[in-house]
Amino acid sequence: MQQEYYSVRMRAAEDGAHISGGERLVSAEEIEARVQALVRRALTHELGRPDLIQVTVERVLGSDVRGVQALPISKRPVQTVEQGRAMAIEELVKAGISREVAAQAVQWIATGPGPAGTVMRGALVMDADTGARLESDPARGVRVSKIDWQPEALASWQDAVRAEGIANERIAEALAIASKVVATTGTVAELCWSDDPGYVSGYVASSALGYVRIPHLKEWGSPLGGRVFFVRGVDVLDYEKALQTPVLIDAIQSPALVRGE
Ligand code: AMP
Repeated sequence: MQQEYYSVRMRAAEDGAHISGGERLVSAEEIEARVQALVRRALTHELGRPDLIQVTVERVLGSDVRGVQALPISKRPVQTVEQGRAMAIEELVKAGISREVAAQAVQWIATGPGPAGTVMRGALVMDADTGARLESDPARGVRVSKIDWQPEALASWQDAVRAEGIANERIAEALAIASKVVATTGTVAELCWSDDPGYVSGYVASSALGYVRIPHLKEWGSPLGGRVFFVRGVDVLDYEKALQTPVLIDAIQSPALVRGE
């Protein structure tokens, strides 16, 4: 990849509390449109209008960009939040996380992992065996940045999953983050559900499981959500740096969607 790219990052907050964010890696021609879309996201978020919107645009050398394949997606049929959280724990155990640590991670997200039960801007980093929280700034958490889809790969993925009704930006973004962290940073597994009150599904991801969608992980209307990255034997500062190395999702797996679970 000889071309130049630009990392575009947005964060929006109200009274210091996280409202929304977004991370992109685009060509020069796309910068304006992406900045506009991210500012619109910040201004129209259901949690309210922020008093701070920060947008950062930073050049990235094409030779530094690594290509990664998207994880395949599957879905687990659960009807309630209790079933969803129990399923998330089972999937994390399959990914090699201890049951106690998996349950603790669910508890952290369910009760607000930030100071005084707030939502964090970034993710928690948990030791997969002891459950210790390792992130260097536990109020902020760690952010994955410089991540996007190569446009042709995104179009192929959207074609492959359209019939399932999941070819949307939210899932595309989450899948890109999960595929990056699993492939390039030594993350053993990831657990995520959104803090948006109107979005109750989430996922568990690992290299062996792929991206496992779980449709109910919280109650409608709840503003609590978050992300946990489970790690084993990493130096946390190196790990945090690895989350910010530039990655484009440039291929999908076949099949992109695993049915019949
Ligand atoms: P979202 O699915 O975008 O609502 O994000 C859910 C939670 O994941 C947020 O509350 C953050 O704690 C975390 N998060 C969102 N984006 C990122 C990112 N780029 N890197 C790390 N954590 C993130």
